[in-house]
Amino acid sequence: MGLAPLVRALPETVPAAAPWPPPSWVDRPMRWAQLTLVENDPGNFAPSFWFDYFRRTRADAVCLSGGGCVAYYPTRIPFHHRSRWLGDQDLLGELIAGCRKLGMVVIVRTDPHATYDDVQAAHPDWIAVDASGQPRRHWASPEMWVTCGLGPYNFEFMTEVKRELMRRYLVDGIFINRWDGSGMCYCEHCRENFKAATGYELPRSANPQDPARRAYILWRQGRLFELWQTWERAVREINPEACVIPNTGGGATSALDMKRVGALAPTLMADRQARHGLMAPWAIGMNAKEYRAALGRKPVVGIFSVGVEEPYRWKDSVQSAAELRLWVADLVANGMRPWYTKFGAVLHDERWLKPVEDLYRRLADWETYLRNDRPLARVGVVYSQQTGWFVGNQVEDHILGWYQALIEARLPFELVHDRLLDSAHLSQFKTLVLPNVVALSDAQCRQIEAFVERGGSLVATHQTSLGNELGERRTDFGLAGLFGVSFGGKIEARMQNAYLRLEHEAAPHHPLLQGLEDAPRIIHGVSRVEVEPRATFPPAPLTLIPSYPDLPMEMVYPRVPRTDVAQVFLREQGQGRVAYFPWDIDRTFWEVLCVDHAKLLRNAVTWATNEPAPVTVTGPGVLDVTVWQQAHSLTVHLVNLTNPMMLKGPVRELIPLGEQVVTVRLPTGLRAKRVRLLAAGKVAHFQHRNSEITLHVPSVLDHEVVAIDV
Ligand SMILES: [Zn+2]
Repeated sequence: MGLAPLVRALPETVPAAAPWPPPSWVDRPMRWAQLTLVENDPGNFAPSFWFDYFRRTRADAVCLSGGGCVAYYPTRIPFHHRSRWLGDQDLLGELIAGCRKLGMVVIVRTDPHATYDDVQAAHPDWIAVDASGQPRRHWASPEMWVTCGLGPYNFEFMTEVKRELMRRYLVDGIFINRWDGSGMCYCEHCRENFKAATGYELPRSANPQDPARRAYILWRQGRLFELWQTWERAVREINPEACVIPNTGGGATSALDMKRVGALAPTLMADRQARHGLMAPWAIGMNAKEYRAALGRKPVVGIFSVGVEEPYRWKDSVQSAAELRLWVADLVANGMRPWYTKFGAVLHDERWLKPVEDLYRRLADWETYLRNDRPLARVGVVYSQQTGWFVGNQVEDHILGWYQALIEARLPFELVHDRLLDSAHLSQFKTLVLPNVVALSDAQCRQIEAFVERGGSLVATHQTSLGNELGERRTDFGLAGLFGVSFGGKIEARMQNAYLRLEHEAAPHHPLLQGLEDAPRIIHGVSRVEVEPRATFPPAPLTLIPSYPDLPMEMVYPRVPRTDVAQVFLREQGQGRVAYFPWDIDRTFWEVLCVDHAKLLRNAVTWATNEPAPVTVTGPGVLDVTVWQQAHSLTVHLVNLTNPMMLKGPVRELIPLGEQVVTVRLPTGLRAKRVRLLAAGKVAHFQHRNSEITLHVPSVLDHEVVAIDV
């Protein structure tokens, strides 16, 4: 079977909607707790300590370790390893009973990724095999083995484990950590199943344009969705009010199609536990947006760790209280429900207990205002898994550039999944941003055209639509008609020392150049697509100053002072507007963070959107601004990201921001009755003007919620 039929066949492996109704509990919990047991926990801690902490944190749901790697109950399944400290106790049963007394939703954690010598000896085909044909020892616990995620260990053995857990405890759900294998597996099952499905041998190359690799990317997904449904069926047969929750999902670089994930999952957990390396504090909010793009109004839960998350994995560490607060603030502001996770029931460092308790109690007080119906953002940024799978090529950096630019611009926005571009999913948006979305099918291009025909606007960058859904180069942009330009046949992959001339004379007071009035030229990006206009454009506000030598210094002068090569194409299309940058402005911005690029990105979205934003916030600092509607209220979240540790290192202290002026455009038919600042605990005075209200927020420490009763 060739690749094309495989691609077409895949959507049928998972129906458009889950065949099971969502369990009735899924929308209830707002504050999750997780206690991940370690093998020597049984008998070495007092469960009452944790019951008390769950109560004090007002947690309404919990995830408790059950089985898989280690069973914390007297399992009868052969090869299901009981904790050596368990004796004949039923620790899991005791914990479940205590949590139920507190009225909590209870799910059980399993982890199938590692196993023991007796399993390897009895079932060698359950073990993952490396590229050289050797069974894989565990990288961190070398006395253990890594299991194959796509074979009988998961499909048969772990299904039995789930059945046993569900029969014994009738819990609300089963969470499965590390369920999708640990990298490529070359075991006999993977080899035979892949060959039978696709005709290919398992790929040895990571190049997504290698036909076997592309087939593998799709086949592996099909296999995992099949596994998910196998587990779901097994669990539902015993308890129709339960579900399985595989730990899965993410953005453009994640492996499983979020469209299908969103259709299958009644609720899902986003597992980005903390910042590490060069990561902005909005990264958790981005995670929320990625999941919500696929899950819509289904509850999305954000797992945060109380410890330091770096490649060295200090799993028993404790993070600074300020860092914890900021991370959770951005998670909540972007519509996720928090889930704290603690590894090990025996505490080696208790400093996290109080900050998390304080945070959770505050969130419990705010609960009514956190039960969101919908976000009111009018800008949607597309993240493209297709581009991630089949093109790779720094797909994420283009998105991150937009994310940072829109945060700096304080423009509320959402993320949009590339395979959910139908009118229902886009109806909330005025403007769609396409950050180098290379891989688009003809049908997806038609959906984007239809969006513009309905009055929507577009801002696209670089190689957007220059590939088909498999990332294969097209002869022309799929969106050439909208851009008004055709592909010129060449991509300049690496530009050094190139600039943009700002055409203030030819395009006076152009909205794209707002804030750049005194700039005659600014830096260019790093890569650009040569294009040929096929429509008539007004004079371009940005033109190319080509690269010239950057050494020796005597040679550093422009060889060509100006050209008429436009570097942005702006058109009005009916009620909509289209802006196309034929270069990597967003990716370069993420790499270099040049403020001139931030202004261009902001101005392009503002010009394209061509209507007042749902909320404007003026004042000093960097804020993540989100705006939501609930049953009887609107909320504006202000998360103060202003901090010397914003891009690296845990935050040491929260630094209060000065006064912010907030103007909210109320949806048609709504009037504000009362406005409160939830963190400050104060009623706010506001002015009504037409459909807008304006108020002052005197200060923001980490997180303020402007709660507008309507
Ligand atoms: Zn395998």
